[in-house]
Amino acid sequence: MCAIVGIFNSKEASRVAYYSLFAMQHRGQEATGISVSNGEILRKIKKKGLVTEVFDEDALKYLKGNSAVGHNRYSTAGSKSVLDAQPIHASYKLGEISVVHNGNLINKDEVRQQLIDEGAIFQSQMDTENIIHLIARSHEEHLRDRVIEALNIIKGAYCLLIQSRHKLFAIRDKYGVRPLSLGQLEDGGYIVSSETCAFDLVGAKFIRDVRPGEMIVFDNEKKGYESIQLFEPTPRICAFEFIYFARPDSVIAGKSVYVVRQEMGKAMAREHKIDADLVIPVPDSGVSAAMGYAHESGIPFEMGIVRNHYVGRTFIEPTQARRDMKVKLKLSPINAILKGKKIVVVDDSIVRGTTSKRIIRILKEAGAKEVHMCITSPVIKHPCKYGIDTPSYEELIGAKMSVEEIREYIKADSLSFLSINSLKKSIGEDMEYSLVSFDGNYFIK
Ligand code: 5GP
Ligand code: MG
Repeated sequence: MCAIVGIFNSKEASRVAYYSLFAMQHRGQEATGISVSNGEILRKIKKKGLVTEVFDEDALKYLKGNSAVGHNRYSTAGSKSVLDAQPIHASYKLGEISVVHNGNLINKDEVRQQLIDEGAIFQSQMDTENIIHLIARSHEEHLRDRVIEALNIIKGAYCLLIQSRHKLFAIRDKYGVRPLSLGQLEDGGYIVSSETCAFDLVGAKFIRDVRPGEMIVFDNEKKGYESIQLFEPTPRICAFEFIYFARPDSVIAGKSVYVVRQEMGKAMAREHKIDADLVIPVPDSGVSAAMGYAHESGIPFEMGIVRNHYVGRTFIEPTQARRDMKVKLKLSPINAILKGKKIVVVDDSIVRGTTSKRIIRILKEAGAKEVHMCITSPVIKHPCKYGIDTPSYEELIGAKMSVEEIREYIKADSLSFLSINSLKKSIGEDMEYSLVSFDGNYFIK
């Protein structure tokens, strides 16, 4: 969850950050913020709401400067305070800093307690605030060394952007769990963002991904950028970025998210051959995989369900009753093409089972004869601790029920999941992935 963007040495830094955040709205809709530096002071605006709601022309004019960091926050239950929006900013001995973070620190409670014991006071519930405190309390003379010291204390999955008046640091943890890419803007400036779809919108040229364990330093007084490999890289990109989270037009580790999703659909069609009349996706997240399934199986593809785009993602409402309502608001069937048909429905994942259950009910009500649910990821059996908002064991249907029990619960005629092996093959066997949701291997210790 969450999107981050950093712009350096560009005339309209805040505007470029704004467009980038707009392109990455899917990664978080709860709150958004931008901090800019004009070389003298940092100015910032952060608020609850969507990018287009929070920023207007006046806001962008106020945010004048040639470096910017921005953030879209993903909603999680119980932390709706605007104090939990980013960037987080502080004045400290060396001046000012603003920090944005995507990911999840696993030792946040220990570090926070330690800081509190030493007298620190906290403004928010965010793990990101730990980083600011660690930087502020360090005795190192230069910000760079203070940042490195802090990075040696925090543990977990993180992509971080740290802005001072004259510098910008971009850091990716040694596992590279969350994506982070580097690009060049048309005016010669640089952009670092969670997803490459932001580059396409602002006309930036992709340079490369930030490497796992790498820190890139941009400095007003130096040309280009400096790369420091802080930690030995042991890449494990989150498979869920490919399955669900990233936008299909993004490229992660050289792999097109769209193409990977199609491969997942194709693998599904090979693993689970179903005699059916139609393949339909659960829009939007199931579309690329459903096309892959249709392609491989030869079964015709139809958009049998339409989506109302004015409703946010189902997870935005944290209570179960309101989530049920949201699925209804969001998806409705096309009776004319579904009546009397045997249907394969493709979706990317089952978390609580709410969406699948509802979809099958509306398809049956629309007259479908059989509904075969194909999920193009393995069964989610474990909560992710590295930055995807999957719920606890109690709420994860895959942790509580067998596949047959889930099938019965969602009332499907059949239910298939992709195997872990096919998932890995679909993304590419050239590297390792974070598969914690599926195999429970919490590799960050
Ligand atoms: P369920 O209804 O089973 O709880 O959730 C499954 C649906 O939620 C799928 O359609 C999937 O695309 C979507 N989904 C899966 N993971 C996430 C997530 O982390 N955040 C949000 N907003 N949706 C998710
Ligand atoms: Mg979905």
